Amino acid sequence: MEQVILLRYGEIFLKGKNRSFFESTLVKNIKSSVAQFGAEVSKSAGRIYVTKLSNNIEQIIERLQKVFGLVSLSVATQIDTSISNIEELCKTIKIKTSTFKVVTKRADKKFPIQSDKFSAMMGGVILDNNSNVSVDVVNPQTIVNIDIRENGKTFIYYEKISCAGGLPLGTAGKGLLLLSGGIDSPVAGYMMAKRGLAFDCIHFHSFPYTSQQAKDKVISLAHKLTPYVHNHNLFVVPFTKIQENIHKYCDDDYMVILVRRFMMKIAERVAQKYNLQALITGENLAQVASQTIQSITVTNQAVENIPVFRPLIAFDKIEIMGIAKNIGTYETSILPYEDCCSVFLPDSPVTKPKLDKILKNENKLNVDSLIDEAINNIEIINIK
Ligand code: ATP
Ligand code: MG
Repeated sequence: MEQVILLRYGEIFLKGKNRSFFESTLVKNIKSSVAQFGAEVSKSAGRIYVTKLSNNIEQIIERLQKVFGLVSLSVATQIDTSISNIEELCKTIKIKTSTFKVVTKRADKKFPIQSDKFSAMMGGVILDNNSNVSVDVVNPQTIVNIDIRENGKTFIYYEKISCAGGLPLGTAGKGLLLLSGGIDSPVAGYMMAKRGLAFDCIHFHSFPYTSQQAKDKVISLAHKLTPYVHNHNLFVVPFTKIQENIHKYCDDDYMVILVRRFMMKIAERVAQKYNLQALITGENLAQVASQTIQSITVTNQAVENIPVFRPLIAFDKIEIMGIAKNIGTYETSILPYEDCCSVFLPDSPVTKPKLDKILKNENKLNVDSLIDEAINNIEIINIK
């Protein structure tokens, strides 16, 4: 007798010629998520199984629930096929709902009893060993599955645990997440990873205006994302000189929007250097002055060649906070360290910035050399 985990994935996305690419990426992601536990992953007859679970079953399940592309899983008991073995196991099943039915699948046609008849027999065994439950063949709350396989093994499972859904990480390409220390950007990264987009992170750091603790907080947020994006890089960009230059030479009310355009330009350059195909931000319409339509328009115009994904654009803050709590980033995000956006913050930032005024301000700066210098001094931190 052995416990195995049976995994289900979203068939709907797997039609057509991309199927094997999706499946092999999914299997690779599952393997890397459970590798540290010594578990093994195998695929047979269109199903994925995790075996060699030893004593880590709870932790393995927790990991698998975060693998995008998986819809649900069941812990199955695998036994050698025989009527008496199956019957003994059915005697131990404890139904936790008030109705159930048994569904037998007999891939092994040598098994001597017909599926429906065997389901009824085993239903009787389960009824004898559970009080206050009844059989409902039309709409049961629990389905006890008995899968009699061709290889002499039978799987029995009856509880479904839901998983994250989405698409296997990496199947939609790879982007670059602008990761601040706030609540929104980690959630934005999570949302895109769920659509299959892997990513690296980029953070703009203005030491000494922003502290070492602020940087450590971002590093720890990047770590909090590892169950979803596994192994990724965090690019930390020294941003102090750029902010000082903007503060010294440019209009005060345009400070924030100029800062945001520098971030976008640098992020695009880094993306192109490392073959990353899109930028991701946690921007959210009308949340702050830098997120009005006019501000987003001019921020967007700083990026020339790749799309900017803003998955949170239409979310309420309460909804974003709910996701942040679910994915485990919230507690870190609310630590009180400052972000570089709050350095030299003007009293009244412009809410309807004009591109001609922006360009006039940028002409006062040596934009290209400031960007080159920042990029040349990036620190790359590998997050595992
Ligand atoms: P967040 O909660 O993610 O910090 P926010 O509501 O504070 O977002 P802004 O400060 O306007 O909004 O930032 C909008 C987006 O710009 C962030 O979601 C993030 O993607 C990016 N961003 C802001 N500051 C930084 C930074 N220091 N480094 C990297 N990206 C940043
Ligand atoms: Mg912020």
